[in-house]
Amino acid sequence: MFKWDTLIINANIATMAEGAHAYGMIDKGAIGILNGRIEWLGTTAGITNSIDTLAKEVIDAQGCLLTPGLIDCHTHLVFAGNRSDEFEQRLNGVSYQEIAQNGGGILSTVKATRAASFDELYAQSLPRLQALMCEGVTTIEIKSGYGLNLEAELKMLNVAKKLGEENNIRVKTTLLAAHAVPPEYRHKADDYVDLICTEIIPKISVLGAADCIDAFCESIGFSHAQTKKIFDSASRWGLPVKLHADQLSDLGGAALVAEYSGLSADHVEYSSLKSVKAMAKAGTVAVLLPYAFYILKETKLPPIEAFRKHHVPIAISTDCNPGTAPSSSLLTTMNKACVEFSLTPVEVLTGVTRNAALALGIEDEVGSIEFGKKADLVLWHCKQPADLCYWQGMNRVKRIFTARKND
Ligand SMILES: [Zn+2]
Repeated sequence: MFKWDTLIINANIATMAEGAHAYGMIDKGAIGILNGRIEWLGTTAGITNSIDTLAKEVIDAQGCLLTPGLIDCHTHLVFAGNRSDEFEQRLNGVSYQEIAQNGGGILSTVKATRAASFDELYAQSLPRLQALMCEGVTTIEIKSGYGLNLEAELKMLNVAKKLGEENNIRVKTTLLAAHAVPPEYRHKADDYVDLICTEIIPKISVLGAADCIDAFCESIGFSHAQTKKIFDSASRWGLPVKLHADQLSDLGGAALVAEYSGLSADHVEYSSLKSVKAMAKAGTVAVLLPYAFYILKETKLPPIEAFRKHHVPIAISTDCNPGTAPSSSLLTTMNKACVEFSLTPVEVLTGVTRNAALALGIEDEVGSIEFGKKADLVLWHCKQPADLCYWQGMNRVKRIFTARKND
């Protein structure tokens, strides 16, 4: 009778454990895994029994880096259609406005997503998920927001759930019905907000289709007052909130989501010091999205020094979406976080592990290598954690371990 299913020895383990110094490294570390949980953690030298008798499978990591499975905590991965033509048009001098007037932009994705069948939507989204999984992503958040009516939002959320069920990846779903005003509600945004609050959120809650409620609080999205209404409805239906906040201007979105003890405020380039303090007090995570920052050629940096000073946890995510972040590479995003935002590699790795778990409210289960947590792990063809941020165009994943669904 073996003690564990799997024993990994001689791994350079970046535990990313809370309170540990920097990466929480264990040199020549060892991990015993049973039923998808971390049952033992220590040094290889600390194993006194004969190794072969301890586990069904013994893996000698030969000094390679072992990290928690990566977590992409903000994506719009489920959508139909393709907007590379708009990318090309813009580079040929056509303005955003002209593109929107010709039916482009977010509403073109809405049109394609509404028209796609469940199976078409699944098939189009799957390669994006697979690309992220190849880079060691073991947990992902997927938002709705291109359906903009109950039926199509639900279709997106159900596709996201099915992606998780069929691909051995943990999926958390977020309702983002307040992503844009749908064409049939043009100039009637308040009526659409009413529909979200009185029909969409209640139905989604009853069906258990989403783990969280999100909105796009911005001059080109939804106002502070409209967002508040949506959060009130979410609270009534017992769902946690997060927010696309202060991306292009300071509407006080980050402070608003903190007021509701929200899981995260995302983008936050324009957040004020007052908002940063409110986030610190509420424990709201700052989710930074450097890929969108890069694509939009933004220049206003998020208040990173203030986040550090006030101990606001920082997470990093791809923002994978067809408009402002056409990317299914978390590793590229990690490099961008270092270069665009001057975050350190330890901040970035924390941002795609422990703090990303915090942004999804699942920090008790995943995000660090600690006794009792799920054994979502990645073994890499490198020794140092900084390699993951440093070199581009090289996928160093050697092996991915994922806890089974029922573990
Ligand atoms: Zn987003």
